[in-house]
Amino acid sequence: MFLTIGTTGTPERPATDLGFLLHKHPDRAQAFSTSHGTAHVFYPEASAERCTAALLLEVDPVALVRRGKGKGKGRGGAPDAALAQYVNDRPYAASSLLSVALATVFTSALSGVCRSMPERAGAPLPLRIEVPALPARGGAELVRKLFVPLGWERVEVTAVALDEQFPEWGDSRYVRLVLEGELRLADALRQLYVLLPVLDDAKHYWVAPDEVDKLLRAGEGWLADHPERPLITRRYLSHRWGLTRQADQALELVRLAESDDLDVDSVDNAVDESTDTEEKPVPLAEHRRTAILEALRGAGAHRVLDLGCGQGQLVQALLKDVRFTEIVGVDVSMRALTIASRRLKLDRMGERQAGRVTLQQGSLTYTDKRLKGYDAAVLSEVVEHLDLDRLPALEYAVFGSARPRTVLVTTPNVEYNVRWETLPAGHVRHGDHRFEWTRAEFRAWAGKVAERHGYTVAHLPVGPDDPEVGPPTQLAVFTLTDTEIDKKTDKKTDKKKEAEAA
Ligand code: SAH
Repeated sequence: MFLTIGTTGTPERPATDLGFLLHKHPDRAQAFSTSHGTAHVFYPEASAERCTAALLLEVDPVALVRRGKGKGKGRGGAPDAALAQYVNDRPYAASSLLSVALATVFTSALSGVCRSMPERAGAPLPLRIEVPALPARGGAELVRKLFVPLGWERVEVTAVALDEQFPEWGDSRYVRLVLEGELRLADALRQLYVLLPVLDDAKHYWVAPDEVDKLLRAGEGWLADHPERPLITRRYLSHRWGLTRQADQALELVRLAESDDLDVDSVDNAVDESTDTEEKPVPLAEHRRTAILEALRGAGAHRVLDLGCGQGQLVQALLKDVRFTEIVGVDVSMRALTIASRRLKLDRMGERQAGRVTLQQGSLTYTDKRLKGYDAAVLSEVVEHLDLDRLPALEYAVFGSARPRTVLVTTPNVEYNVRWETLPAGHVRHGDHRFEWTRAEFRAWAGKVAERHGYTVAHLPVGPDDPEVGPPTQLAVFTLTDTEIDKKTDKKTDKKKEAEAA
């Protein structure tokens, strides 16, 4: 069982970085023992221009047969199954076993983690993946249907003849697959991890309920929207209906949440009729961006995080002002990021402009080293998208760990909802809002956050400030207190001194 992963590079960005991203050194051949045999990783080529890693799984047929028997369940008993043990294709073909090996050997790469090169791991690479013998139930056509929607530029699938000398015997159940395109390495590996067993459709290990979680994790960012999703979940979970239904429901929720993001806060995009009727009325979303930009300028921020950036409208506005030298948009939704990147025309942007902006996928409920050291972070209409019990995790990740000098948080003021004509009484403004706060509730939360993490907080109205119910959007400006800033600089100087002393 065999597959290769290759990339190309330049002297500045050598292809051999692949070794760091896979956490496997190009100069060494390494062997790992897995539950089905030995997995070998080696590099047939490794230069700055081209680097290819090969994963070869040497299956231990005896272990395979024993495992198969031990797990029982319909396999191994029938006479043809007994024969199958000896004419088994497992040792040669890339199947579910290779997928298990992939996850065992490249665990960190699969999760997208690379401490030494985080920005390389987070960015698409020119990749070439080849699987010379891929068992494909459903044939070349299904292989294409599975890989074409995933963003590869080239998906080449060639049927492999049963016997080249006897073409009249027709094709075997194998195809040769070549994928080429610019993808994040982790995304490519996750696709293979799920789709190899799907194509094989003969899982050799027991499908446990935690397979649903594994599938959801590996499918993040690509599976929910995949046109062949029902087939993928069904086959991946070995046709176990209960599990398939569970996975489908979870993926449907992901898809709905993501398609909801497409009309982010649709009520807010409604025109604010109360502004001067002589001029063109201004949508609330625009009021919000203006307020955020002003607050950022007031804080003297240059390097800015847009956390939960959605489709990138704020990133676009920030780019127009040269004082913002570094802009990082973060979102959990791949789909939103794809739309953002299209909106910004990232691929056609000049080098200097492109150097100012990064879009990255990440969840704000986990601490993330990439977010440290910025002047300011914006959370525009994001907190209300989280379940209340996840809010402390976001609080820690932003105020405790990333800890920028300024944090701006905007959120709807639920008291104002009675002023929206289109909003039925008692409804939140957007299907994905988990809650909406009154002014007092927001102030109470913000006050506690500030106190816990050494910030001061000021509140500003956004949009027309109604004398009775307040403004439609509330903005909190958090500023790190001077003592906390001193502590931060002290820590840095201490580290520097330590380094000098060493
Ligand atoms: N900031 C944008 C988008 C707000 S919509 C604006 O003001 O228009 C909320 C966004 O938060 C969505 O894009 C959603 O994908 C993102 N989001 C929700 N939960 C998140 C999480 N845990 N981590 C990162 N982003 C998240």
